Amino acid sequence: MKTSATKPAASRPSRASRSRGPSARELIFGDLWEFDPAPETADPHIRSSYGLFINDKFSPARKGGIFPSISPGNEKKLTDLALADAADVDAAYSAASKAYEKVWSKLPGNERGKFIYRIARLLQDRAREFAVAESLDGGKPIKESRDFDVPTAAAHFFYHAGWADKLDHLAPGRQVAPYGIVGQVIPWNFPLLMLAWKIAPALAAGNCIVIKPAETTSITALKLCEVFQEAGLPPGVVNVVTGAGETGAAVMSHPLASKVAFTGSTEVGKAIMRSLAGTGKKMTMELGGKAANIVFEDAPLGQAVEGIINGIFFNQGHVCCAGSRLLVQESIADDMLTRLKLRMQSLRVGDPLDKNTDIGAINSKEQLTRISELVKSGVAEGAELYQTPCRLPSKGFYFPPSIFSKVTQSHRIAREEIFGPVLSILTFRTPEEAIEKANNTAYGLSAGVWTDKGSRILKMASQLKAGVVWANTYNKFDPSSPFGGYKESGFGREGGRQGLLDYCKLL
Ligand code: NAP
Ligand code: MG
Repeated sequence: MKTSATKPAASRPSRASRSRGPSARELIFGDLWEFDPAPETADPHIRSSYGLFINDKFSPARKGGIFPSISPGNEKKLTDLALADAADVDAAYSAASKAYEKVWSKLPGNERGKFIYRIARLLQDRAREFAVAESLDGGKPIKESRDFDVPTAAAHFFYHAGWADKLDHLAPGRQVAPYGIVGQVIPWNFPLLMLAWKIAPALAAGNCIVIKPAETTSITALKLCEVFQEAGLPPGVVNVVTGAGETGAAVMSHPLASKVAFTGSTEVGKAIMRSLAGTGKKMTMELGGKAANIVFEDAPLGQAVEGIINGIFFNQGHVCCAGSRLLVQESIADDMLTRLKLRMQSLRVGDPLDKNTDIGAINSKEQLTRISELVKSGVAEGAELYQTPCRLPSKGFYFPPSIFSKVTQSHRIAREEIFGPVLSILTFRTPEEAIEKANNTAYGLSAGVWTDKGSRILKMASQLKAGVVWANTYNKFDPSSPFGGYKESGFGREGGRQGLLDYCKLL
């Protein structure tokens, strides 16, 4: 007997009419059902103050400077941090230098690997506590810090622990050696993960480290120092100095740093490169981006909608590789806009510690101001803004999910990195036009392609000037996969064999 589920295939709508016709029936509940609050309650074990982590000890800055770290979700102060000046940074480099000469450079790779492995395990043991601290300090939703940031950070340590005794196989036919001491500076969007991206390969390659986390998000870096202590990492192998831009400049320019690695804005990256020109320091720069996420009319549109939403609203859009420019084929542009508006309405914006939250707090008041200014420019230049009618918390820094249609290439919102939950939609007719528009940017970090045709994916991937091209997916990361940019998105890679090679000299 036939059931209603066994309709003859011929009576189904064709693929094209399914993608262009009215959307399938949608369940729209609006605010019919309110979610109960579901706060994560684990204790993040944040101390009332933290010193600089130099030579395995937390100690105050020499001049006694401190600055607060607040929670962007509610503007409450979390702790006081020490403000390192050039003399403190110098002390950190002296500790790193001693550690390198006396201990770290003498350890065989398998012994270094054991320390890195221990760090990974201890981070896993304390994953919940780290996730809460990360969300409190930076504003990202707990489901992201719990399911992405902390596990991926641990995965980076595991991956590089495995490499530490296999460096002979890193560059076949060549010997490699560590640089000695590396200086590193990281931004605030993935505080713990960026720390892992920097520290794990540098240690595996045999280097000692002086690193500065971002001013607004240093807490998990300092908590990771507790993990270093617990893991028995020899004193001085990793030193963490907290502070603002001047502290960062002192870390980058210190004469003992043979290699420096910077992740942050293109503007600061350029300033660092200018100041270090001629010093002979090896550099890697992971800078900004303005990725094109390209959707062809033959793409699986339902899946693409999820990828677009994830591409721009993941981590409030504070993502260097965010799919912030949606290039959609003209024939499906209206349908796509309708689908996106509908999907956006189910995003929950609010308390970063609530397990139901999809979009948390903007990292700082300054960043909120920057996002608001760029959004105003989009409206003033003639693009059409849609924001979901969500209620934002009265305290803290929040911005509603936003999309702009009718965007042209010349609009600021199509050219500048907004680094917030704001999507700019442009259209194209042919693959050639898509490539031209996608590449028409100063950046070149990442891109996405959505299509049914494998051959088109390969063609697009070979012509897009972007370090990473995702096909029928977006924002996928793996420690074994190199990540990095072209053009003003920087140079050097993080992750994989290529990323590890950037911490080694070829002999
Ligand atoms: P930023 O202003 O460039 O700051 C990055 C880091 O550099 C922070 O620790 C900052 O300290 C420090 N800093 C500021 N001025 C400095 C100077 N003159 N010398 C040395 N260090 C200095 O960038 P951000 O606003 O924090 O981060 C967002 C940017 O990072 C975006 O452009 C994003 O695309 C980029 N990013 C790129 C990647 C990638 O892999 N390509 C990954 C993540 C983020 P303070 O915190 O005190 O300002
Ligand atoms: Mg903070």
